[in-house]
Amino acid sequence: MKPADREEFFARLKAVMPEPKTELEYASPFELLVAVILSAQATDVGVNKATSRLFPAASTPRAILALGEEGLKDYIRTIGLFNAKARNIIETCRLLVERHGGEVPRDRAALEALPGVGRKTANVVLNTAFGEPTVAVDTHIFRVANRTGLAPGKTPLQVEQKLLRVVPAAYLKDAHHWLILHGRYTCKARKPACPECIVRDLCSFKSKTSV
Ligand code: SF4
Repeated sequence: MKPADREEFFARLKAVMPEPKTELEYASPFELLVAVILSAQATDVGVNKATSRLFPAASTPRAILALGEEGLKDYIRTIGLFNAKARNIIETCRLLVERHGGEVPRDRAALEALPGVGRKTANVVLNTAFGEPTVAVDTHIFRVANRTGLAPGKTPLQVEQKLLRVVPAAYLKDAHHWLILHGRYTCKARKPACPECIVRDLCSFKSKTSV
């Protein structure tokens, strides 16, 4: 995609979504971190349902440690992989208290050292909680970047690095949310809604749908 087309691509997404936000509900960097750990292979709706009960009861690392692993499971057992997630969250809480005074660190290496936190989760927290211009490449962003020709790559890391190079600076902070929402609701995996897509003329996908 040509630079002028990338500019136009994001200008149009911004016009319809001026302030894109994550659909996960949270009130602090710690709550966001827990929600993102819970969201692996789960829907945002399912995570929000669980955290709407969990966070009023425990919304800090110390409070979740006080619940204990079994206590935490009572709140999250509707979410897939809840046993492993409970174990990771408890261990993450312990490390946050021991190493970071109970705060979520604004630092990639420190975040990725937490159990259950990989590069994607660290990117979401750095971007969404702290406003850093990072892009967490999930399945939606990977698909949109490749289909459109915006930032083609064979792996999520390749796509992430390409996006960081080619997304116009003014759009980088919110690019993550625009691309996720575009992928989730328009450029869907099985049947992209090309006829109603606002970036159709800029997109180089060869199998655009016509109905
Ligand atoms: S035109 Fe189709 S393939 Fe291209 S971005 Fe839009 S929905 Fe996706």
